[in-house]
Amino acid sequence: MVKDMKRKLSRIARLEGARLFGVAGVERFAGAPRGHHPLDFLPRARSVVVVGLPVLKSIADYQTLLKNSEMITGKLRQEYLQQYFYQITGYDILNQRLEQIVLSLSLYLDDRGFDSIYFPATYSGQYKAFQNKVPGNAGIFSMRHAAVRAGLGEFGLNNVVVTPSYGPRVRFNALVTEAELEPTPLPAEQICLGLKCGACLKQCGGAALSLLDGAGESNNHHAGSEAVRLDPVSRTNIPACSSKRIQAFCYGRCIQVCPVGN
Ligand code: SF4
Ligand code: SF4
Repeated sequence: MVKDMKRKLSRIARLEGARLFGVAGVERFAGAPRGHHPLDFLPRARSVVVVGLPVLKSIADYQTLLKNSEMITGKLRQEYLQQYFYQITGYDILNQRLEQIVLSLSLYLDDRGFDSIYFPATYSGQYKAFQNKVPGNAGIFSMRHAAVRAGLGEFGLNNVVVTPSYGPRVRFNALVTEAELEPTPLPAEQICLGLKCGACLKQCGGAALSLLDGAGESNNHHAGSEAVRLDPVSRTNIPACSSKRIQAFCYGRCIQVCPVGN
């Protein structure tokens, strides 16, 4: 274990704007599909470091913006809210910052002799250029799986990571490193409220979210970290979401309506 390194990395991340920081040992990725495991990127990887930035409340609740504008109304207002505010200020700009944070952390580790690799943030411009090349149209490294394994939250029924402080309104990025860092404990109890809430499923405007088989109440609310959902319990129909969310005026509603962290 590299002494004190985790505290220093956390400090750098926070100085650069991260609000969430966690570490997972590579053993928490046991069972990851071939090509997606940290060891597939660095054969001597020991840890995965994950950072998170929350989406501002005003952006998550973008329907409240521009209400009194005389210039931007009707369809144009919807376009501004979803594609200008939610997509650019709530997604692209956070992604750029996240990429800079994992770059800084990787350089810090590299300077101290630990090979490390970081990734383009999910759905950043660079990421999208490669997305279609991966079987299953998935990223080569899952930030959601990494964030959960780094103790920052758990998979919610909305198929994204739900965190105690910000609910699912957080973007993540990660790096893989040869440094053996002290892992962050997994959450002791479930964070997503499960089917007794179900707001994300009920209010999805594109009918794009569905539960996986066996993902009902049965796996809710056991005591202990083993009850926390480390893997998805639902599926997002990406083509349905992508084609309907603008038209249905529901881009991001699946994270907006979540009561956790609000
Ligand atoms: S963005 Fe809209 S369509 Fe897509 S999953 Fe969220 S609520 Fe459903
Ligand atoms: S809206 Fe409810 S069911 Fe969906 S992720 Fe949040 S707490 Fe879980």
